[in-house]
Amino acid sequence: MTSQPAVHGDPPLTGRLEPWMSDLLADPDACRKLLDTHGSPVNVLNADPLSRRAAELVGVAAQAGVDLRLFLARKANKALSFVDAANAAGHGVDVASEAELRQVLGRGVPGERIILTAAVKPDALLRLAVDHGATISLDSPDEATRVSELAVAANRPARVAPRLMPDAAHRLPPTRFGAPAGQWLTLPEMAGVEIVGVHFHLHGYAAADRAAVLGDALGLVDELRRHGARPGFIDIGGGMPMSYLDDRGEWDSFWQRYRSASGEQVTWKGRELRTVYPFHQATVQAPWLTDLLGTPLPGRGTVAQALAESRLRLHLEPGRALLDGCGVTLARVSFVKRRSDGVGLVGLEMNRTQCRSTSDDFLVDPLLLRSGAPGEGFDGFLVGAYCIEDEVLLLRRMMFPQGVTAGDVVVLVNTAGYLMHILESASHQIPLARNVVRTPTGFALDPIDEPAATLYKP
Ligand SMILES: *Cc1c(COP(=O)(O)O)cnc(C)c1O
Repeated sequence: MTSQPAVHGDPPLTGRLEPWMSDLLADPDACRKLLDTHGSPVNVLNADPLSRRAAELVGVAAQAGVDLRLFLARKANKALSFVDAANAAGHGVDVASEAELRQVLGRGVPGERIILTAAVKPDALLRLAVDHGATISLDSPDEATRVSELAVAANRPARVAPRLMPDAAHRLPPTRFGAPAGQWLTLPEMAGVEIVGVHFHLHGYAAADRAAVLGDALGLVDELRRHGARPGFIDIGGGMPMSYLDDRGEWDSFWQRYRSASGEQVTWKGRELRTVYPFHQATVQAPWLTDLLGTPLPGRGTVAQALAESRLRLHLEPGRALLDGCGVTLARVSFVKRRSDGVGLVGLEMNRTQCRSTSDDFLVDPLLLRSGAPGEGFDGFLVGAYCIEDEVLLLRRMMFPQGVTAGDVVVLVNTAGYLMHILESASHQIPLARNVVRTPTGFALDPIDEPAATLYKP
């Protein structure tokens, strides 16, 4: 490797690589072969970082005297190899639709290690959850009524966890999810429901916000117990933070430059970056959990002490942070040309839904695997396959100090959490990207790309 990367933003935002990624990218022929075999782009996955991180989180909690259970938020990545990895390590899965639930059951995950948090739950989905003893996160009293009726009809108790809407007093951003504590107090009297825990999920990543709402959840547990229920856990949802960039300095420099830039120096047509993920964060994953567990709650000691005192397990539903380091997206350079005003364009065989989340841009530099000898420098924007003027893959202008040519491979790093699948579309009838697992001996198609083999048949 040369000291200067073959592609970088200006200023650079250098993505952190896992060793398996460096190994893969050290073999450009293997990367090109993956594109030849599966088409472009291709997502390459490896679940080892997930298993490693999950064990670390459970260890940190155990040290604080807390029984932690993890439920991978499947909506963050559809690949079934991640479900298999979570299952093999004894963890659970958070599912958000009937197909997600069927597929997870089909992989052999037991119902008691599944939580259904879908925002809208049709009867068929609720019936499937009841039949398999999956925990249902109740989002509204109306939903609770339907679950009760279905459970009575099925002659099988529904395992439920009411979803707590944070009290307005916490001054968190308003949320559509859950219901206030007061609306859950009649739940213990409903026929057919067994209250197994209390659930909430917050926007953002602050440990302090989660500690505050966890205090309210403990209050709700006490109330439910007074009414005869026996909740055994508090599930604080997802939002565990992660960092894509190791270097805080790069992150700060980027924003300085962004604020002082004019025209198209930094972003395509000077686009504003309003909502973006905090790609560098000081405290993430295991240290973040340690902070959360050590946060004092009024009159209850620390979060860890309060949970132990109330004989409650802690459940977490990390999506993004558990998929940290678990994937890269490879795409073939199709052309290099100039826009009518001379701005450089690098066309990839890929569309903008194939590396995109709900935020404005993915602020991590790609890597470039060159196919020929170093050439003349070039700079410009990565554009994609949809026939739309503003079809840009990354909003930031990219510098190619040794040039870039058709046939090169662009690598988007650390894309497993949300970026691959949450918004992917097959518009223009262009097929969805294939998902390939890097195994110790080679590559295998993820079972999600063999639907017939994986769909669970009741
Ligand atoms: C999306 C979601 C998650 C995962 O959130 P991350 O930020 O990816 O950790 C967990 N639980 C629920 C209910 C969600 O909607």
